[in-house]
Amino acid sequence: MPDSDARQVSIVEVSPRDGLQNEAGLVSTQDKLELINRAITAGVRRIEVVSFVHPKIVPQMADAEMVCAGLPERDDVEYIGLVLNSRGLDRAVQSGVIDEVGCVAVASDAFGLRNQRQTREQSIEVCNRLIRRARENGLSAQVTLSVAFGCPFEGEVERNTVIDAAQRLAESGPREIALADTIGVASPIQVEETFAAVRAALGPDVPLRAHFHNTRNLGFANAYGAIRAGVTTIDASIGGIGGCPFAPRATGNIATEDLQFMLERMGVQSGLNLDQVINAAGWLGSVLNRPVPGFLSRAGTFPE
Ligand code: ZN
Repeated sequence: MPDSDARQVSIVEVSPRDGLQNEAGLVSTQDKLELINRAITAGVRRIEVVSFVHPKIVPQMADAEMVCAGLPERDDVEYIGLVLNSRGLDRAVQSGVIDEVGCVAVASDAFGLRNQRQTREQSIEVCNRLIRRARENGLSAQVTLSVAFGCPFEGEVERNTVIDAAQRLAESGPREIALADTIGVASPIQVEETFAAVRAALGPDVPLRAHFHNTRNLGFANAYGAIRAGVTTIDASIGGIGGCPFAPRATGNIATEDLQFMLERMGVQSGLNLDQVINAAGWLGSVLNRPVPGFLSRAGTFPE
């Protein structure tokens, strides 16, 4: 790898929220907490645990407060709650245990209008307001720009659109800005060039995070593209669960265990224990009653 590449990458675990959100069958609060505990045991120190959205819109997240009430008290673990509006932010603050809110802006109008009834401009304004209010309430806040590499309705997303959105989102001082390939259409070169361009536009002080879906089997190549661009924080989901409501049969997020294997084989540290992540993925498959999409829980690690 080139010298500029990271020797250390932090994985943000997103399975309890992004991973489970699109599961048709309701997963019990107890199993969600077991998943969170297994992730922490495996070394995860930053984890997206719930979203504070209306239970009618996302029934799987209706027990957000119960999940929060059952979270292990750990000073060394940061709990992230997704919020889309001020009501959600109030719930995150009231939980007393959420350390950080995650906000979602959109890179395309058509996706935003269908997904959260906001244009790109509106989503940026809402996120900046939420980020400022979260910080006033003593919470950390970050934002993810979804469909940053392609939109299911508008097609290609211009790089300048992504740069402009990132610059405007940086105005509210988020902890970091993530670029998400929500529908899994990016290529590694596109990822590397886009992150490099956003980094150049924002300067060195705004951390960047990457979020990939393995819908077309390029999720891990794209993670490598992000690492090559100097990104040191990557989202992943145990077992590779999750998906996008606009890509119904698609594979979900990149699997934590598969990403961890790639990082280990490249000599990049993440602090995770691969065997424990594989165990968690196997357990999750038994809860969901089907094999998870990730490869490592089938193939096993190497060397043994
Ligand atoms: Zn995702």
